Parts: sequence; structure tokens; C-alpha cells
Amino acid sequence: MIVTLDGRSSLRIGGSVTRSTLILNTMLTIIVIIAESYRMRPPLARISATLAALAVIASASACGTPADRDPQHVNVVAAFYPLQYLAERVGGDRVRVTNLTRPGIEPHEMDLKPSQVIQVSGAELVVYQRGLQPMVDQAVGDSGDRLFDAAAAVPLIPLAPEALEDGAKPGAPDPHIWLDPQRYLTVGTRLSERLTRLDPAGKDSYPARLAAFTTEMVALDNAYRTGLAQCARHEIVTSHAAFGYLARRYGLTQIPIAGLSADEETSPRRLAEIAATARSHHATTIFFEALVSPKVAQTVAREIGATTAVLDPIEGVTGADDYLVVMRRNLATLRQALGCR
Ligand SMILES: [Zn+2]
Repeated sequence: MIVTLDGRSSLRIGGSVTRSTLILNTMLTIIVIIAESYRMRPPLARISATLAALAVIASASACGTPADRDPQHVNVVAAFYPLQYLAERVGGDRVRVTNLTRPGIEPHEMDLKPSQVIQVSGAELVVYQRGLQPMVDQAVGDSGDRLFDAAAAVPLIPLAPEALEDGAKPGAPDPHIWLDPQRYLTVGTRLSERLTRLDPAGKDSYPARLAAFTTEMVALDNAYRTGLAQCARHEIVTSHAAFGYLARRYGLTQIPIAGLSADEETSPRRLAEIAATARSHHATTIFFEALVSPKVAQTVAREIGATTAVLDPIEGVTGADDYLVVMRRNLATLRQALGCR
């Protein structure tokens, strides 16, 4: 047992030996299962075999700590960018955050590598959002007290009926809570409280970080409120149904071209419907997003003589962008497209 400087203790030496054996065994199991699965033809069989492998590793490694654990920091695994940003902002130098979704990858569709499943099982806190990424939901399984579920921190609203395509269930919750600054702040507040409980030695630094984050989120919320208060139009035609919370918060109406999943196929009938709706609302801009092909948005825009612009759902960022930069850019884009004063 090692008691670290910041008061957190862990079973490191004994634990790491047992754990490497465990990991070796589990890796072998995975190799066998995956090798086996590639002899089965249908892709669905491969997916379920991978999930089975993940379940094996998740249960095998649910206890113990990895040998490379950093004793100076809370080891946080975040499922995708907005949760990574949140953990870094409210955690600061008390935490070390790993993001499971690489930049440029669409989080709804992401896959987990076996090494990432090991990361998940070794994390002191997994910050994820149940219902958004099936592979992550599967990997975290029931490792209950190490989980922080963002979806449980705020009230969710159901996806708009027109956003439900291809098998999504009516009443399924909209996962895009981070696009509402007020909900995002609530999730950040709950996360800060959780980190304070997990890392009592940092109890003096978490509140200050949360206060700084709160100031920025309140300013962002105010900028949206005033920036979208007087606009010629209020309908936003978007390439996937990511902006429901934002629309509801600031009095806009979202008209999604595709459903929840960003690369979902759009039927010609649905395209015609969207073009008609966009035309009837005199939409001048069809929005598409950074991680997805603009083809469908361009088709609708051409059809009704509109232009296209990027409205970013911040499911991943690239370059020097961060959450606040992209939210501010989205606001400028919306103000221009909707003719706001
Ligand atoms: Zn999305």
C-alpha cells in the first residue's frame, strides 16, 4: 500500500503484478475472440464479438490499478471532447485527462481499441455520457463508483420526432447537452463536486476553478441570449439533430436534415420535405458540420437557392480551437444566417 503525497492511497506494487498477469490473460482472450470473429462473415457478428471481448476485459480488470498510474494526479478518462474540456477546466492541474475519442472522429460512431478499454478500467474516474456512445457504455459496464455520467446530471429532453430515423425509439433522449451553456455548467458543477470528493487534498483548488468556469459560461449564455434576441428568422436547418438544446434555450427552431447520427443516409423523400420546409421558412443558410460531408446540406441549399455555413456541434475539435472558441464562432454564424441585429 502506498499513500501518496496528496493523501490518496493505492495498492501499487502487489496490484501491478497481479494486474499484468490479468491483462496478459485478457489480451490473449481478446486475440482469440477477435481472430474467431473474423472467420464469421457478417459485420454484425464482428461487432458483437468485439463487444464480447470488451466485456471480458472490462470485467477482468475491474479492480486493481495500472502500474503506470500517476500518483500526483487524478487519472480521468473522458469519453469525448466536451467532457474532456470540462474535466480539464474544473480539474486543472489536479487531474490528468485522457480522451477516448481522437480529434476528427465522430463520437457517435467511434470504436474502442482494447488498449482504450484497459485505460477505462484503470481510470480513477470515467467521465462519459450514457446513451451517446454504445461502445463506451459497454466498456464501462457496471464499474459504478468510478463513473461520472453527464446524462444523469441534467434534465434531458427527447429528440424531436423528425430527428428520429431508422430505428431510433420515439422519446429517446437528445444527448447534445453541452451545446446548452446552462446545462454544460450544471454538469461542470456536479463534476467539480465529484472530483472534490475523490481528491479531498485538492479541496481548495476545485472551487476556484469552478468559479472561473462559471463566470465564462454565464458570459457565454448572456452573449447567446442578447445576440439571438432580435433576429429576422428563427429556424435553423442543420445536418444532424445536434442543436435541440441550444435551439430550445434561445428560442430557435431546429430543422434537422438527418437524424441523430451524423453520417446517416437521408432518403430522397426526406430531402424533398426538408427543402420544402426550409423554403417555407425562407431559410437563407443550410448548416453543416466540421466532421461530416457537406453533400446533403449542399443539395438542399442548391434546391432552394440558399448558401451553406458550418455550425459545429463540438463533438470533436481540431487545431487551436476549444469549446469556448467554437461556441462563440457558432454564435457569430447564427447571427449572420438568421439576420440578427
Ligand atoms: Zn451528435
